[in-house]
Amino acid sequence: MKDENFLKENNARHLWQPMGHPGDAQANPPRIIKSARGSTITDIDGHSVVDAVGGLWCVNLGYSNDKVKQAIADQLQVLPYASGFAGSTTPPAIEAAYAVQAFFAEDGIERVFFTSGGSDSVETCLRLARQYHRLRGEPTRTKFLSLKKGYHGTHFGGASVNGNIRFRTAYEPLLPGCFHLTAPYTYRNPFDETDPARLAQKIVQMAEDEIAFQGANTIAAFIMEPILGAGGVIVPDASFMPLMRDLCDRHGILMIADEVITGFGRTGDWTGARHWGVKPDLMSCAKGITSAYFPVGAALISGKVAEVFESAGADGAIWHGYTYSAHPVGAAAVVACLAETLRLDTKTNAAARGTQLYEGVCRLAEKYDVIGDVRGGHGLMVGIEIVSDRATKAPMDAQTMTRIHQATYEAGAMVRLGMHNILMSPPLVVTEAEIDQVLAALDTGFAAA
Ligand code: PMP
Repeated sequence: MKDENFLKENNARHLWQPMGHPGDAQANPPRIIKSARGSTITDIDGHSVVDAVGGLWCVNLGYSNDKVKQAIADQLQVLPYASGFAGSTTPPAIEAAYAVQAFFAEDGIERVFFTSGGSDSVETCLRLARQYHRLRGEPTRTKFLSLKKGYHGTHFGGASVNGNIRFRTAYEPLLPGCFHLTAPYTYRNPFDETDPARLAQKIVQMAEDEIAFQGANTIAAFIMEPILGAGGVIVPDASFMPLMRDLCDRHGILMIADEVITGFGRTGDWTGARHWGVKPDLMSCAKGITSAYFPVGAALISGKVAEVFESAGADGAIWHGYTYSAHPVGAAAVVACLAETLRLDTKTNAAARGTQLYEGVCRLAEKYDVIGDVRGGHGLMVGIEIVSDRATKAPMDAQTMTRIHQATYEAGAMVRLGMHNILMSPPLVVTEAEIDQVLAALDTGFAAA
């Protein structure tokens, strides 16, 4: 590694970073994280803090899982790469598909299509949905329904179903035929509806209206995160996803569960949709599939969808995929990561530590008026909405958010800002003492608001 001076001098010189302004980086150079152990990250200036973001909702096993590291190192020695395209495959690809299918068998998943990350997985699901309908003789089903506040990555398809203007405007025109329903977000919604079940019903009614208006035979799929992550940790009412499942079934629309964050234990169960008793037709996942030790994602396919492709003629061929689909090193990481995830039963710790974090933040909300809303209660996904005025719910300004973030960091916890929300998703192996440290750091952070 180059010395510290080199790193600081060149920090923002050549590197354009995702989700940041390239002109701003010189004035506000990014923090340089140099190492990590367990759930703690260390920066070049010597701060060691609990990573309450878990990388980017992805370091589920923490930073020190030797089994996953060893599996990657071993596979690099044996076969660092082979194409995953039709015609050849590799032992780890076969084993990884077997492990992923077994992991989600209870959810009706039968087939696995590997990708390089979450955006790829969403894109794959959207494409497979269109092709599914075409194979069934309904080529007019090309449109997509999704939720405002939803996040589905940054490829054109995913950006088109994204529900946040920030990720859309600069890249328009996006995919035509994408329509967005109101999010099941009780704190703010156009109906001023604070009852979650009634809000769910209103949105489902809205969906029914939109489907009638568009024509059901033009709609390919509805995509949603079972718990909305980047949009601020929005937990729908328990009735919402089942009602949408029913609506999709009645109108021949596929349901895609975007489990990129919620899959593999983060919510206290192995998928987010299990909390709502829903089995999707297609599922996108990434992050926890390798706990971020290697960039891998997957589009998961239910028996219902798989059957249509597998029994089709030549048109059933999938002319889609990535150079790194089923990358052998990534696949070896998947196999080791899933074995570790099951061995450690990470969902159980996620549920317990998630409750501790959520309840702790609720207590902070009694102390600090800047906390407008606290959302969570399902594993290690907690969102805190910060306002400058509780009565008007005016979103907190960016400067104050930065101050809270900085003070929290100095006090021992890395959290993530999403506009005026604080987002938290620590590793699923985080300890009770570490969650206490995060809560104490937040206390200091809010005191600085
Ligand atoms: N879907 C969801 C629900 C996500 O949270 C994300 C990323 N946070 C993505 C898709 C995109 O994943 P990636 O950044 O790996 O492309």
